[in-house]
Amino acid sequence: MRIQLLPSTFDAQGVATLEQRLTCFVIDDCVAVDAGSIAIALNNEQRSKVRDIIVTHPHMDHVASLPIFIDDLYPTLKEPMRIYATEEVIGLLERDVFNWNLYPRFSDLKNDYGPVMEYIPIPIGESFRVAHLNVVAVPVNHIVPTIGLIVSDGQKSVAFSSDTAETEEFWKIVNEMKGLDALLIEASFPDHMAKLAHVSRHFTPASLGQELKKLTHNGMDIMAVHLKPTYRDQIVEQLDALNIPKLKVMEPGRVYEW
Ligand SMILES: [Zn+2]
Ligand SMILES: [Zn+2]
Repeated sequence: MRIQLLPSTFDAQGVATLEQRLTCFVIDDCVAVDAGSIAIALNNEQRSKVRDIIVTHPHMDHVASLPIFIDDLYPTLKEPMRIYATEEVIGLLERDVFNWNLYPRFSDLKNDYGPVMEYIPIPIGESFRVAHLNVVAVPVNHIVPTIGLIVSDGQKSVAFSSDTAETEEFWKIVNEMKGLDALLIEASFPDHMAKLAHVSRHFTPASLGQELKKLTHNGMDIMAVHLKPTYRDQIVEQLDALNIPKLKVMEPGRVYEW
């Protein structure tokens, strides 16, 4: 399985920067997990292939350019953009984003080929299919309804925590999956911002270190994501100091293969 965390910003030479402002993972160049930077950082091949987008929760850093992405492709879409989310999150997207005020309600619109956007409600706790992938969604502990995901292509499996603080159900499923290849876990704030991390339901390196003690098996790669750009260096240093084997920071733009 190939996974790329899309970059969100580029320097004056057009090279992706390491700061992660928006969240969008692309799996095997065709399935997106969240859509923060989807309209600004896909390459042309990905742009022509990504038609399945899983939205873990409706925070702006995870959906910012989703409306623009559908707008860009509007006349050329020969199949609807499929948005996978829980019923609750679909309701929030329709109320707060695709509401004719912030942006058009694409789910009501058609181009010459048919509907341009379609919601697919995600069941909780049971496996569902997205393109060639099997996905299981698990509620995690964030300030809005949010799901973590376990994604398998039949050979490799990767877990995505999405945005979360201390949680239980996610680890139960991760612990049952002895063959898990990678865990993508958030580490948003540096340790001195533990208070803000707590009220906004995110991890700091210290709280993540505690949380990872809930893992009953190891060996998989643990990739830290969602580092607030302003504190990136500090968070990287604090994550390193945890001395957890195989814990690394995921680099935006780089393609990882499991
Ligand atoms: Zn969030
Ligand atoms: Zn976020």
